[in-house]
Amino acid sequence: MEQRLGVRERSDWSKSVRKVEPAFRTLGAPLEAVRSYTDSNCVNLGSCLQGCPTNGGKSTQNTYIADALAAGLLELRADSHVERVVIEDGEATGVEYVGPDGALTRVDAGAVVVAGGTLNTPQLLLRSGLPDSPSSRLVGRNLGFHPARLVYGLFDEPQDNHMVYPITAHAMGHQHDEDGGFVIEATTIQDPIGFATTLEDENGPLYGPALVEALRAFRRWIGLLVMVSDDNNGSVQLDENGQDVYEASFTAAENARMAGALDFTRDVLVEAGASSVRWTGLITTHQQGSCRMGSDPERSVVDADGQSWDVKRLYVGDGSVVPRTLSVNPSLTIMALASRLAEHLHADTRGYLS
Ligand SMILES: Cc1cc2nc3c(=O)[nH]c(=O)nc-3n(C[C@H](O)[C@H](O)[C@H](O)COP(=O)(O)OP(=O)(O)OC[C@H]3O[C@@H](n4cnc5c(N)ncnc54)[C@H](O)[C@@H]3O)c2cc1C
Ligand code: SF4
Repeated sequence: MEQRLGVRERSDWSKSVRKVEPAFRTLGAPLEAVRSYTDSNCVNLGSCLQGCPTNGGKSTQNTYIADALAAGLLELRADSHVERVVIEDGEATGVEYVGPDGALTRVDAGAVVVAGGTLNTPQLLLRSGLPDSPSSRLVGRNLGFHPARLVYGLFDEPQDNHMVYPITAHAMGHQHDEDGGFVIEATTIQDPIGFATTLEDENGPLYGPALVEALRAFRRWIGLLVMVSDDNNGSVQLDENGQDVYEASFTAAENARMAGALDFTRDVLVEAGASSVRWTGLITTHQQGSCRMGSDPERSVVDADGQSWDVKRLYVGDGSVVPRTLSVNPSLTIMALASRLAEHLHADTRGYLS
């Protein structure tokens, strides 16, 4: 997996990473080079979140999907929305989807793999009418957010954090803290609009002259991303009209952990010489765990192969199966789990595809 994605060590630290590095060391959580799936075409454009223009950032789109498509092993039906998995006599027999022409089409299959992501997969399963059981009652439960914040420090010299690869270094010193821990990535900044609309200080969102002043200094901010391990207390469910409903009820312990992580990150920036520090509210791009994998049908949605405990031939192959929020970015693990599932299906030990 790592080989195909071109995982390599990013020790090509920018000026801004070097600026904060001594402070991390002083505060006992030294920065380490990140191993990341960006190949030599990465020219530090910094637009990873908007889409990598050089394909230096490897994703399934330019690796696994491209390989299968080029080899004629994959038929893509783009711009289509799967409405439900067809379940007959306790087995998944296909899906129904609405294509770009608006028509509802049924595809029959020996096995169905749902991979709509942590927020969408539970909705699709709930809309498909799973039989009632302890396992199906867990669909959409145990949702983890991996809550994060960007914390910014203002420095005297331009740092140009909009023109760096955003994750060349991380501080792992608090990854295994007894209270749950956190990880910090260095360094990055949002695009100017994202930056302007999310900035806060202890009085709440920044506005007026203070915000204008912060924006004028755009090139001088260094941003650190701090990600906290949560306890999977969220959920995604459907209301009586079939609309999605999300809940994130953090416990007092989780709130204290997030506050501690923010304090530490602020301390790093002050130690590094920042003249002021600002931060964003909570953000997440790492949802995990809403259809967790496990060995006990009373406590999980899918078994160790990724197959539903309740519906044969129905598999889940995305981040929703991760049983507990990972302390680091999850996509490599999600891809490894998907690859493992592909090997399982290819071996066809249950005779679903023969
Ligand atoms: C801005 C951003 C930055 C990130 N940075 C990193 C990073 O640096 N490192 C890292 O490890 N992770 C990162 N992540 C997280 C990572 O992208 C996700 O964890 C990962 O993509 C999740 O994979 P998945 O297969 O579970 O779901 P997804 O990648 O979300 O795939 C689900 C797919 O299913 C499709 N879909 C959903 N419902 C339906 C339906 N009903 N019918 C048809 N199609 C459907 C969706 O359109 C989507 O294409 C980032 C995420 C974001 C948003
Ligand atoms: S910094 Fe990001 S967007 Fe720019 S080339 Fe590298 S991976 Fe692509």
